[in-house]
Amino acid sequence: MDTLIIKDINSEALETAGEIIRRGGTVCFPTETVYGLGASAYDEDAIAKIYEAKGRPSDNPLIVHIPDVSEVYKVAREVPDSAKKLFEAFAPGPFTLILKKNPEIADRVTAGLDTVGVRIPSHPVARDFLKAAGVPVAAPSSNISGKPSPTKAEHVIADMDTRVDAIICGGASDVGVESTIIDMTEETPVILRPGGITPEDIKRVLGDVKIDRHVLESVNVKEQPKCPGMKYKHYAPDADVTVVSGKIDATETKIAELVAKDKQAGKQVGVLARCDKGYNADCFIASGKDNSQLARVLFDALRQFDKENIDTCYVQFTGDDGISLAVKNRLFKAAGNKVIYTEE
Ligand code: AMP
Ligand code: MG
Repeated sequence: MDTLIIKDINSEALETAGEIIRRGGTVCFPTETVYGLGASAYDEDAIAKIYEAKGRPSDNPLIVHIPDVSEVYKVAREVPDSAKKLFEAFAPGPFTLILKKNPEIADRVTAGLDTVGVRIPSHPVARDFLKAAGVPVAAPSSNISGKPSPTKAEHVIADMDTRVDAIICGGASDVGVESTIIDMTEETPVILRPGGITPEDIKRVLGDVKIDRHVLESVNVKEQPKCPGMKYKHYAPDADVTVVSGKIDATETKIAELVAKDKQAGKQVGVLARCDKGYNADCFIASGKDNSQLARVLFDALRQFDKENIDTCYVQFTGDDGISLAVKNRLFKAAGNKVIYTEE
């Protein structure tokens, strides 16, 4: 299909995008977390197009986006006080609340579940687009299933041109990893996926929050899985990814050693680390001074390594600041849990 590429973002262009949604089409749009691939959450046929464009398994539900908390009942039938408190504290922002579903939401959105993810993005283009659409917009990340999520318009065009009706080209996503997902249907809320709103942020508002076992398992595996790349691989580039975790000095020494060995074996090697300590990598990408900056560049860097035909890459992971659980979760999945711990 012909894809309308919207580079000049103005109210007329966003109105066109909104109309595509109302007519049952698909539109990719920027948000502060990653780019989304949206369709009307009320339209079963439109939702089917999302799964097809991404090659996404149909049992993996989608998050529904609205421009303002006043529209939450269009998506959810119950909003507990704890959810209202989180919306008040952090909306619009990089988090998704799992609530009881409004029956008007298409069953394909929630893969048959009685619950639905609700998100209010803060990105001004996303909000204006959602207002123009006038209906709740279901949207997963706009990448081919299994690939790193898109954080720049060029990533979306690479994956989705000819597969969707329109792509709105905003700038680079500010947070860079997907929203924090919090299940509000349990007595104590549970983080199902870590993101830009941290466990500490939520505890400050609600007093308590649990973290789902799967989040912790995916970041705590200290051995190579029996079948690397099978069970956990996600967000994965073609290059082989290894995380080197620990203190700054020890990880730098280890990466230098690994790069030298791989170069000798004739491999094309990539490094994503805080600074270039003369690694002699074929492709070095700076990850910035903290994990918020690493979050912002991570998916772009993984795609960059593929563009440069890198065979194997090393990512330095260090520190324990706010967003580190989210970064660790994505990074370890991208690496299929191939992690070298230098010291802890
Ligand atoms: P994506 O939008 O590509 O980041 O994927 C959305 C994520 O939200 C997936 O991991 C889904 O499994 C999760 N999700 C969406 N709706 C629900 C729900 N009702 N209950 C639990 N998880 C959900
Ligand atoms: Mg995704």
